[in-house]
Amino acid sequence: MTGVEAECVKVVAQKLKKLGVEVVLEAKAKGMEDKGDRAVVTIETSPSSTKGGGTATLDADVVLVTVGRKPTTATLGLEAIGVKLERGFIVTDKQQKTNVAGVYAVGDCTPGPMLAHKSTKEGEVAAEVIAGRRARDGCSHHPVRGLHRPGDRHDGA
Ligand SMILES: Cc1cc2nc3c(=O)[nH]c(=O)nc-3n(C[C@H](O)[C@H](O)[C@H](O)COP(=O)(O)OP(=O)(O)OC[C@H]3O[C@@H](n4cnc5c(N)ncnc54)[C@H](O)[C@@H]3O)c2cc1C
Repeated sequence: MTGVEAECVKVVAQKLKKLGVEVVLEAKAKGMEDKGDRAVVTIETSPSSTKGGGTATLDADVVLVTVGRKPTTATLGLEAIGVKLERGFIVTDKQQKTNVAGVYAVGDCTPGPMLAHKSTKEGEVAAEVIAGRRARDGCSHHPVRGLHRPGDRHDGA
């Protein structure tokens, strides 16, 4: 749970432990062997891992891979019109303006947390700026909420 407050991580870790889940930290998945009705995953652990340093195998019924996301801006032709990119992200100011007049960017393709409410807020700011209004505020602070199961909301709404 990279980037999540340690207190929140602790709660999830305790709950998982109660459910009998073994959490192996500081481990890299190196490969997976499909055995038909199950899979064997090979991991490489660092010396400070709960499994100690070295290579280990894990038996699994199901393997879920969640390795992160990146912006898919490479094929948009942004370079052709001179829009500034940094590591694939479209660079904007606080009004969501890019360095090219009349071109705005919001959401996951811009730097910052790749979260739905950040994208929504940036969209609102861009729309207000395009309409000639003063956007209420920028997007420098974002509450983080997690949706663990479809339909779950953890923001009290
Ligand atoms: C599995 C998963 C779980 C997530 N869970 C959460 C969560 O719990 N909480 C949270 O806040 N966020 C969550 N997110 C992140 C959230 O979904 C994104 O941050 C948000 O949808 C980004 O909005 P966006 O408008 O930038 O991009 P998107 O919602 O991806 O919208 C981009 C749209 O552009 C379209 N498009 C792409 N290329 C082109 C093109 N060349 N021409 C025209 N249209 C194009 C796409 O089809 C898409 O409809 C999750 C994401 C994933 C994948």
